[in-house]
Amino acid sequence: MTTDLQLGVRRVLSRNPATSEVLRAFECATEGNIGEAVARARKAQAGWSQLGIQKRLVVLRTFQHILQQKKSDVARLITREAGKPYAEALATEILVVLDAVRFLVEQSYQHLREEPVPHGNLAMKTKRGRILREPYGVIGIISPWNYPFSIPATESAAALAAGNSVVLKPSEWTTLVALELAALLREAGLPEDVFQVLPGDGLTGATLAKAFIDKLIFTGSVPTGRRIAETAGARLLPVVLELGGKDPMIVLEDADIDVASSGAVWGAFVNAGQACLSVERCYVQRRLYAPFLEACVRKTQRLRVGDGLTPGTDIGPLIHERQVRLVEEHVQDAVTHGARILSGGHRLPELGANFYAPTLLADVTHEMRIMREETFGPVLPVMAFDEEEQAIDWANDSAYGLGASIWTRDSQHGEQLARCLQAGAVMVNDAVSCFGIAEAPHGGVKASGLGRTHGKFGLEEMVRVKYVDSDRLPGIKRVWWYGYGAAFAKQMEGFLDMQFAGSLSARVKGAVRSLGILTREGRL
Ligand code: NAD
Repeated sequence: MTTDLQLGVRRVLSRNPATSEVLRAFECATEGNIGEAVARARKAQAGWSQLGIQKRLVVLRTFQHILQQKKSDVARLITREAGKPYAEALATEILVVLDAVRFLVEQSYQHLREEPVPHGNLAMKTKRGRILREPYGVIGIISPWNYPFSIPATESAAALAAGNSVVLKPSEWTTLVALELAALLREAGLPEDVFQVLPGDGLTGATLAKAFIDKLIFTGSVPTGRRIAETAGARLLPVVLELGGKDPMIVLEDADIDVASSGAVWGAFVNAGQACLSVERCYVQRRLYAPFLEACVRKTQRLRVGDGLTPGTDIGPLIHERQVRLVEEHVQDAVTHGARILSGGHRLPELGANFYAPTLLADVTHEMRIMREETFGPVLPVMAFDEEEQAIDWANDSAYGLGASIWTRDSQHGEQLARCLQAGAVMVNDAVSCFGIAEAPHGGVKASGLGRTHGKFGLEEMVRVKYVDSDRLPGIKRVWWYGYGAAFAKQMEGFLDMQFAGSLSARVKGAVRSLGILTREGRL
């Protein structure tokens, strides 16, 4: 990392992972800074919420317009700070955010508006019920470096549409991109303090989780997510946890080898494998195993690794050297236990300290770290299976449950198998890309997290549900209030029979016995 202890001030350094050049240093926000930022956010939130959804959406639409105009500059900044190829920054960051705002502009009013609640209970027929969706207040967001723009921007846009203010603690590796997001929102007319960025490291994040926020949306690794959950549990702070994954890809014997191998290579190596939804393990039905591997080798060897700003680059650097070491360890462990390297399997020091060759491993087993732990690097480990049940068992044999994919010419069969997989999202004949569907809920099961972002479920996470009940007969005492008397119990028995007894005659008798319940005397 990049924390520099000097005179008690902690700093984080933003670096270009392709060149290791330091782009800028930031002082970490102190506990005092965080408390003040949250207090300012709380003050600003009231006005933002009262503005009403339509005016808030006008600001988001303006943000969308400005982002569209500045797309190239923002994408280049993302590439400089996070390393991914410029084309990927456009496709997986800018496009995702533009489309998420499109969804909010088109649909958030409909999802957030008041909703009548019709009553079935006969005793409650005089009441009118409504659901209100109210903003939490101040939403804290802690985000990772791998999608430094699209993750905090999509989460923040939903929080803002719902009337919250946001305090964002971005990854220590990608502060510049977060500050760019803040600048774009300000330019779009977002009032001061409604969206604030607090640069800093893990300790800054931990301090934000303890600050006077109303909800926390965390995206990052499982170990950090567990720590956040402990802090949140102690004070019952609502949280969304978007954590790591170990997504399986299952290739059935009727799959198109050319399509599936291209999907595997892209799904495993996109963003140098540093995507929460990337293909982390691949199971291929025996008949296709050899030709599938052969196609993957051919395609992997054609990939161009380099600086993401160089035109034509397919794969950029990893974010930092620690990540390269983790990838190396997983590959080494696999080879020690019998896996074969068909392509890559080594660093690319001639390109820089953080480059690792896209790597294809065959004959892996489920005991290897590469099949059990999140690798988060450009490695595609492949193993063969005979029966579908075996592949489903292996796919589910994981602590994680973020995404999964099934590859087959029979989409219906693929969708059927999708029901058997323990995952937050299953794609049939594609991988990773459902993150880019603004309407699709994103989130995991098991250790991959709690709650959802994106789409209507993501919007629901940004509001408290309040039920408002209003009686239409304010001048009448309710029949179930005190002053029960002897007759009331009989009337109540009849009332229950009238509604729920099995036979018609019992219901009719119940109706007769319940007579007088509405005009019951003696109510206090
Ligand atoms: P990380 O957990 O190291 O850090 C994430 C964020 O948490 C950073 O901003 C960091 O400063 C902060 N943080 C660190 N320690 C903290 C603490 N004790 N309390 C509060 N905040 C703390 O993760 P990372 O390396 O930045 O990101 C990679 C991980 O994120 C991978 O596991 C990946 O799968 C996961 N991820 C998940 C999703 C998803 O949507 N499910 C999306 C992207 C990344």
